[in-house]
Amino acid sequence: MAVSDAQGSKLRVCALYPDLMNIYADRGNLMVLQRRCAWRGIGFELSASGLGEPLDGGAHDIYYLGGGQDRDQQLCAEDLVQGKREALHEAAARGAVVLGVCGGYQLLGESYALADEQLSGAALLDVRTVREPRPRLIGNVAIEVRLNDPEGSSGKPRVLAGFENHGGRTYLGAGATPLGRVLTGHGNDGRSGFEGARAGSVIGTYLHGPLLPKNTWFADWLIATALDIPVDALAPLDDDLEEQAHRSARRAAGV
Ligand code: GLN
Repeated sequence: MAVSDAQGSKLRVCALYPDLMNIYADRGNLMVLQRRCAWRGIGFELSASGLGEPLDGGAHDIYYLGGGQDRDQQLCAEDLVQGKREALHEAAARGAVVLGVCGGYQLLGESYALADEQLSGAALLDVRTVREPRPRLIGNVAIEVRLNDPEGSSGKPRVLAGFENHGGRTYLGAGATPLGRVLTGHGNDGRSGFEGARAGSVIGTYLHGPLLPKNTWFADWLIATALDIPVDALAPLDDDLEEQAHRSARRAAGV
């Protein structure tokens, strides 16, 4: 087992609506976090908060919301706003990571407008999503991200590769910073050239795949950010297979 500065600490992860918001094997993201902590001697605790269940904004280091069908998002949105929004704001304010993937990303925003109903979101990201009567945005996708500063505008560029499948188009407000620049694929709305959104440690992205097995460097960034330590305080791992997965996802996206 590798030893790291983080050994002895514990990563506490809470999955929101893991039974409803979990398409494209999003739970693989949670498994990657668990394994990468275990390999380094970092403790790992996974909790869940589903419909009607309480959420403690002070108890976890990462809050995770995966992808979902529109009908499942409808079920979760009201519960999220009424029962969990405040806790998520508290968590974000103290620097916990809040990660939303696809449907989860949409619900971290201000709203998701469906044909006959507008869902309110957790309002952690200044984005609005609209389900327009146009073809779904589907395919392999690669984006360039810079994560070293909270605005995402400096630092070494890195690539995230994955798969997107969304009917919603997401539009960024003045208070939102895109997570990355689209290299190939559609991104937020198929036109802007941007993908995802970020506000400090709150991150939304359309990249499924699932995201983290194909981009373990990003999993490590999330772990380090959540534990409030530098990434290089995490012991290096033998990432041969993980690198192959990353390269294969990039190749699929043509990058
Ligand atoms: N239902 C949402 C959409 O189609 C999100 C889909 C997803 O999570 N893959 O836009």
